[in-house]
Amino acid sequence: MTKRYDALIIGGGHNGLVCAFYLARAGLKVRVLERRGVVGGAAVTEEFAPGFRNSTASYTVSLLRPKVIADMKLHARGYRVIERTISNFFPYPDTYLTLGGGVERTQAQFARFSKKDAAAYPAYDAALEKVAQVLRDIALKTPPNLGGGVHALLAAAQQGWPIGRLERSVQRDLLDIFTKSARDFLSGWFEDDHVQAAFGFDAVVGNYAGVSTPGSAYVLLHHVFGEVNGKFGAWGHAVGGMGAITQAMAAACLEQGVEISLEAAVAKVLVDGGKAAGVRLASGEEIAAKIVAANVGPALLYRQLVDQADMDDDFRKRIAGYKTGSGTFRMNVALSELPDFTVLPGTQTAEHHTAGIIIAPGMDYMDQAYIDAQQFGWSRKPIVEMKLPTTVDDSLAPPGMHIASLFCQQFDPKLDWDLHREAVANLIVETVTDHAPNFKASIVARQIHSPLDLERKFGLIGGDIFHGHMGLDQLWAARPVLGHGDYRGPIKGLYMCGSGTHPGGGVTGAPGHNAAHEILRDSGPMRRWRRR
Ligand SMILES: Cc1cc2nc3c(=O)[nH]c(=O)nc-3n(C[C@H](O)[C@H](O)[C@H](O)COP(=O)(O)OP(=O)(O)OC[C@H]3O[C@@H](n4cnc5c(N)ncnc54)[C@H](O)[C@@H]3O)c2cc1C
Repeated sequence: MTKRYDALIIGGGHNGLVCAFYLARAGLKVRVLERRGVVGGAAVTEEFAPGFRNSTASYTVSLLRPKVIADMKLHARGYRVIERTISNFFPYPDTYLTLGGGVERTQAQFARFSKKDAAAYPAYDAALEKVAQVLRDIALKTPPNLGGGVHALLAAAQQGWPIGRLERSVQRDLLDIFTKSARDFLSGWFEDDHVQAAFGFDAVVGNYAGVSTPGSAYVLLHHVFGEVNGKFGAWGHAVGGMGAITQAMAAACLEQGVEISLEAAVAKVLVDGGKAAGVRLASGEEIAAKIVAANVGPALLYRQLVDQADMDDDFRKRIAGYKTGSGTFRMNVALSELPDFTVLPGTQTAEHHTAGIIIAPGMDYMDQAYIDAQQFGWSRKPIVEMKLPTTVDDSLAPPGMHIASLFCQQFDPKLDWDLHREAVANLIVETVTDHAPNFKASIVARQIHSPLDLERKFGLIGGDIFHGHMGLDQLWAARPVLGHGDYRGPIKGLYMCGSGTHPGGGVTGAPGHNAAHEILRDSGPMRRWRRR
């Protein structure tokens, strides 16, 4: 054993950094151990081709909790988010739809397809916002550890009480959204397929499921509980890419005295007498600490880094059955010019180029993509979202050149992607080219992340962008496993602080924040939490 620390964090993803920050701020001696040569995990900016940089995995920001932004003083460290004037652009073969830019503008767009849906939109927006507020309110609260004594009962009452006091209609919406499919939920509000699909798309992002799969409505909600520059539900572009956020977080950590080690892969969590004792690195070096917090997902932690003999049978069985694999395919491409859409021509930057460009032209299209993926590995008509960051941020590519982030859903996580990676990348390019004929020829370089590449590069088991499926059976007090929803696993002193815990995936900072709170609750007086 070498040097001693109070706490070790396995992984320097954004949640690991947030956790490290709060622990160090409270006076603990903390070391972050990151496997890669860069901190940030799935929130990084990297050069993917000479002269072209991009957020290589996650690429758009909304869910990051304002408290975390303020506590880590991220604005003073360069954190700046550019809002988009419209959120989405949906090209179809002979027309298009845009979403965002204000309620009236969206209503005018919907009216082209259904006057009834245009009229229904303000009430839908208001109802969703009320339900999203429930999520916002509990994001920074530790779920009750059901069966965990008085403290758990109190936490359950504290979090259940405000829900009990909501208007009956909001309670009903809340129940619908946690249990129904996106299709059932949305068809209760809207009649037109284009309109339903415009919202339904959020339900399949990072969700290996169809819009008709029960529970898929929740993922839709998960994408709207954020805010940008005080605007609820908005998404924006972090200037400099997502890595600008995590570099700012790393700077906040260093200021608090956190030690950050890169290329320091953890091979094993050391356990002594049922308690965490430290870690062994892949290099063989052993580092002692009584507190170990895992930023890696529960599947990676408990299936690979913890000795199976250190867990009881039931927990081992639950973790073996933990669902992970979001069926996501992610590409970055360098472009010589912007896509020239048939339905909205032009290669000069226009409003639709700055939006999320979504090819998912109907609810059946999305269901079929999931069915195809289960049968054939992927759909010949894939669901594609494309963002063009250089239309709002010229720091990422050489002058006059562009980059695109392509985020595509419903690709079987279990397939041997070494055999199919290139073919699927070509299909995705063709799919965009069907709508923007200059696209294929404008590509000067590309980087491909199949589900397998996401696992190899970022440590996301099954390529799961959320560290685990976001369904009712793996949410809140049941994330990752019922009885361990409070950031504590079965081994004393070994905590979880990543997206596999409440409130789940996305660049939120919430799991890191909440885990630090619980660690400090166990390890010292709570006044440490409040120390500045
Ligand atoms: C393709 C993709 C697109 C996404 N798009 C968005 C988006 O636009 N907006 C959004 O909000 N969210 C998005 N997400 C989700 C979001 O990025 C993640 O949920 C979030 O970044 C996870 O953060 P984390 O800190 O919990 O874990 P991670 O970022 O996964 O960090 C875990 C860290 O642990 C490290 N590690 C792994 N194994 C070891 C080991 N053995 N030893 C030491 N370190 C190890 C990893 O290298 C990594 O740095 C996306 C994710 C992906 C993959």
